[in-house]
Amino acid sequence: MSFSSEFDSLALAELSAFSQNATAADVEAALARSGTSGKRLSLADFAALTSPKAAEPPYLEALARQSHNLTRKHFGRVMRFFAPLYVSNECINICQYCGFSRDNPILRVTLTVEQVATEARYLREQGFRHILLVAGEHPHFISDNYLRDCVARLHAEWPSISLEVGPLETEQYVPIVQAGAEGLVVYQETYDRGVYDAMHVSGPKKDMAWRLDTLERGYAAGFKRLGIGALLGLAPWRNEAIALAAHAAHLLRRCWKAQLTISAPRLRPAAGEFEPLVNMNDRELVQFICALRLAFPEVGLVLSTREPAKLRDNLVPLGITMMSAGSHTEPGGYTGQGRAELHVTKGGRMVKPPTPLIESEGEHATVQFEIADNRSPAEVAARLGEMGYETVWKDWESVLNEA
Ligand code: SF4
Repeated sequence: MSFSSEFDSLALAELSAFSQNATAADVEAALARSGTSGKRLSLADFAALTSPKAAEPPYLEALARQSHNLTRKHFGRVMRFFAPLYVSNECINICQYCGFSRDNPILRVTLTVEQVATEARYLREQGFRHILLVAGEHPHFISDNYLRDCVARLHAEWPSISLEVGPLETEQYVPIVQAGAEGLVVYQETYDRGVYDAMHVSGPKKDMAWRLDTLERGYAAGFKRLGIGALLGLAPWRNEAIALAAHAAHLLRRCWKAQLTISAPRLRPAAGEFEPLVNMNDRELVQFICALRLAFPEVGLVLSTREPAKLRDNLVPLGITMMSAGSHTEPGGYTGQGRAELHVTKGGRMVKPPTPLIESEGEHATVQFEIADNRSPAEVAARLGEMGYETVWKDWESVLNEA
């Protein structure tokens, strides 16, 4: 059964209610079961760990301690680095929270395969060996053939290539996997049906079930690493956390040969000036990350440059195992590639000034969102070194395979 089929039968409303009303005894029982039984925590345990009660002293401190110990046990003092490489900011979807949304009159560009290779070379010189190719969803500019060609061009120099692009059919993924891609990342954004429908105004992304099942289609095509996440700021985070945990548990059962990672991205300012519908403070983010670690001790937890440097440093010992650094969220952002192809679209059609443009830096393509940690990769690695962590610039399995 695919996750979209299972989704409606999950008792998410009941679990959310249980989380809201969880008692000290519920939290203590979940804490006692974590890391001791050798079995995964139940969704009810996870709901208790993400409850308001578990955010209170002394429970959050206990959660953090246990999360730290489990992370150290399963991952050591190692942080894997990856670099996002935006290949296109074209998109046919209207997503209210995203700078690339079709209705935003922004500067757009799709890099040629050679321009992608130039950006990748810059990242390789920074030390990265794990790259994440990112794009909006546009079958004309970002076709499956284009993605396959990008992967094939990079494959010889990049031991680990992942994609974060619009969902495709299994048969469209197969040539991309054969060209050398091994990771597929798809954030569901929100698991709340009402909010999902309101946020995704038009375009293929409006089909929630199609997106829910994307990673299973990717797994069927041969992807070895799967990444999920919810965009925090659209719906109450505790509800999102429970649904995300259900999704993770489903994928661990169904796609058991793949490695799973989970991301916890909070909304950042972007073109369109969308404001978060709900807030999640830093303490709540800590609780979410620690609860994920207790429920999924061996799953990689990812933190991007959406979060500021100090908070990122503080989250490292608590459960994070994978980070980006020095990121750009616009195509051509690392080397200035693609400026010659810049154009402006609104509603999917080319428009000309005086249509007001979202402010962008000179002639660069517009960013998807603003980053908050502006340190270079070397600076982040140096700080991790001071904290006693070793930076691994490629994915763990790639290291093992080469050993
Ligand atoms: S979130 Fe993705 S699909 Fe939606 S507008 Fe942005 S790039 Fe396009």
